Amino acid sequence: MTIETRTSIVWDYAPAPESADHIRLEDRYGLFVNGQFREPRDGRYFPTINPATEEPIAEVAYGGPEDVTAAVEAARAAFPKWAALGDLERAKYLFRIARLIQERSRELAVVETLDGGKPLRESRDVDIPLAAAHFFHYAGWADKLLYGVNAREVRPLGVVGQVVPWNFPLLMAAWKLAPALACGNVAILKPAETTPLTALLLAEICQEAELPPGVVTILPGDGSTGAGLVRAPGVDKVAFTGSTAVGRDIQAALAGTNTHLTLELGGKSANIVFEDAALDQAVEGIVNGIFFNQGHVCCAGSRLLIQESVRDEVIAKLWQRMGRLRVGDPMDKNTDVGAINSAEQLERIEVLVAAGEEEGATRRSIACELPKRGYWFAPTLFTDVSPAHRIAVEEIFGPVVSVLTFRTQAEAIEKANNSRYGLAAGIWTDKGSKAFEVASALKAGVVWQNTYNHFDPTAAFGGYKESGFGREGGPAGLRPYLEVVR
Ligand code: NDP
Repeated sequence: MTIETRTSIVWDYAPAPESADHIRLEDRYGLFVNGQFREPRDGRYFPTINPATEEPIAEVAYGGPEDVTAAVEAARAAFPKWAALGDLERAKYLFRIARLIQERSRELAVVETLDGGKPLRESRDVDIPLAAAHFFHYAGWADKLLYGVNAREVRPLGVVGQVVPWNFPLLMAAWKLAPALACGNVAILKPAETTPLTALLLAEICQEAELPPGVVTILPGDGSTGAGLVRAPGVDKVAFTGSTAVGRDIQAALAGTNTHLTLELGGKSANIVFEDAALDQAVEGIVNGIFFNQGHVCCAGSRLLIQESVRDEVIAKLWQRMGRLRVGDPMDKNTDVGAINSAEQLERIEVLVAAGEEEGATRRSIACELPKRGYWFAPTLFTDVSPAHRIAVEEIFGPVVSVLTFRTQAEAIEKANNSRYGLAAGIWTDKGSKAFEVASALKAGVVWQNTYNHFDPTAAFGGYKESGFGREGGPAGLRPYLEVVR
């Protein structure tokens, strides 16, 4: 054991693996349509893989075009009754779902980790509790919609098609479903191909909660299932979270139609450290900002802007802290950085990191033994980055941080805003007035002050520019699911 300072101790941890004995997974999952698990029309199934081991976990039905049509029909049939149900009755279902998520939280956390590769500590302490919190929050709104929309008379939109990505599978499902249902809509959710399992367990929860058939549909599949769903006649509103490229494709497809749309897309968020910040605290925030969930976070603080006077100090502290990150088995409760979600995502990260090196930035990746099987990427720091480098411009969606510097507050703002994205930002300073001044000048949907990646169901989340439009969370998250009558 080496004692470096009084408060920083480096030691070896014994393995602390979470058990998977208590989870009950089927070998095969159907599509959840009209309150029942069903065979897909064309009989296609696909395996879902554990990215930490490359072992298949279960087979999942593939929703083809006929399944999309059947799902929309079932949802349309369910809509009038659900919309006409008393607000308080709808709230009760949402409360029940929230309670059942809590009851099954240990199981859901393990399945989320097995299916997606994120550290168990995160699925257990962040994803699952926040998913329950979203259902609780919107259960509370169901009979208070008037207060959420400035006392206007509103009505639900109808059938909502929702497509979610693989980085927070259950949490994104909750972000989408809870407000939609609270407002009286019925929803068809398409989970990502690599992480369908917790959405299917949520389907079981809907059954347990005795949610009326057709109110929630879970339609696993791949990109073409999503493409079919968002274009399906009979879908009144689309809510999408994922890449800007797919968001753009959906927006083009829906242009000129009456289908309502909200998009939550990519980001290249600036995390700005001023010289007067509490630097140790800022370093923790930088680590959380970019290495949380392997950097598979739309609002990840992937552009680190450090004031020149403290650049060397911050980088030294950050590098030292990065050296203590534990990379490996996501099921181990000591793991900080788990597996990359898929082989494709690993390849995307590798391509962009190689581009960073080719363009002349200096790369440092922490020395760590990576497991032989599965998809892994060591936490990586790039310095000598210029604003035009691809690693400073494009979303890497991996554990890679690019460091840029600035001299003045004005330069920090200009550099932070110099992005086609505008999802989130972080500001680290001891001066309240500076934090507020900078926050109001940043073109970003969420700005965190002396913290990062802080999510709360009561707060609105969403982007500007190529990060999309529309807000999720809090009362603002009700608006996209309602039509103002007068
Ligand atoms: P996608 O945007 O392709 O996937 C997001 C969701 O959309 C998934 O459910 C996907 O299905 C579905 N989808 C794919 N194609 C279409 C389509 N044409 N129409 C409708 N839905 C579709 O992201 P990727 O998984 O391919 O990731 C690529 C990159 O996107 C990442 O490297 C990252 O940079 C970014 N990304 C950003 C996210 C964010 O939250 N901002 C989330 C995920 C990715 P399926 O998974 O089954 O293909």
